[in-house]
Formats: sequence, C-alpha cells, structure tokens
Amino acid sequence: MANHKHDHNAQETIQEMLRAMSNHGWRITDQRKSLATLFAEAEGYLSPKDVYEHMRQRYPGVSFDTVYRNLRLLSEMGVLEQFHLSDGLKFRARCLSHHHHHMICIQCEKTVTFEFCPMKQVPNLPSDFQILNHRFEIFGYCSECASQAAHP
Ligand SMILES: [Zn+2]
Ligand SMILES: [Zn+2]
Ligand SMILES: [Zn+2]
Repeated sequence: MANHKHDHNAQETIQEMLRAMSNHGWRITDQRKSLATLFAEAEGYLSPKDVYEHMRQRYPGVSFDTVYRNLRLLSEMGVLEQFHLSDGLKFRARCLSHHHHHMICIQCEKTVTFEFCPMKQVPNLPSDFQILNHRFEIFGYCSECASQAAHP
C-alpha cells in the first residue's frame, strides 16, 4: 500500500470522523469506531472488499452490502473520499488536518501532497456564488510506474 504521509495523528482523525458521524445522527457503535480506526490508521486506499475483510474478522455477522452502504454514506458526509483507481473504487479518510492537494499514481497509489492551492488563481469566478469547498486532484503515473509501462 502506498504511503500518504501527513503530520496529523490517527487519534485526531478518529475523533473527527466520529464527530462527523454523530453530527449526521449516527449512533457511535463499536463497529463504527473500528471503521474509523481502520481508515485513520490505513496508509493508503482501501477497497470495499478490504474493508469488508477487515470488519468480518471482528464482526462475523456484518454483510458486504452494509459495509459498502456505510462507505458511500461516509463519502457523502465528507468523512471519506472515493477514488477510481486502476483496480477499482477505493476509499480513504478525507484529509481534514489542513488544506492541501494531492497527486495520485493510479497504478501503485503513491500519493504526493502539495500545498499550492489553485483556487487562488482561478480568474473571473461569479461573485454571487457562495463557495463552500473545492477539490483538486492530479491523477497519473509516478516515475516508477511510467517506466514499467514503457519497458514491460
Ligand atoms: Zn492529504
Ligand atoms: Zn506508481
Ligand atoms: Zn485548495
């Protein structure tokens, strides 16, 4: 799994995720705490199947559909972000610590962060539009994956 290095710690991420869940009326169950912990401690992107395999070990009764539905709902809440990478749909905890953007290799999922925010450079935005947030992500191949593709 690729690294996505950040200076925030897992405990803070867990607390932020649980706060967002309870703000949306979710009861904080052990199962939801495990889900938040899994994402806060994950070093990369998790597929619905990765999450299901992990949850099933601790909660044998959990169904894939429940796990998948929770992942979609958590994305809608802004707790998780979803990405379409080369081996399918994957999720990652949203970076809430400070504002930054990502460059993501769709092959090995290496993620590089950068602090430059392109929003500040966007010209002529309609002034009557109240902006809440924005996303900006760059997808492609890292140098290692690009050279593997060129010389298979
Ligand atoms: Zn980040
Ligand atoms: Zn790569
Ligand atoms: Zn930005």
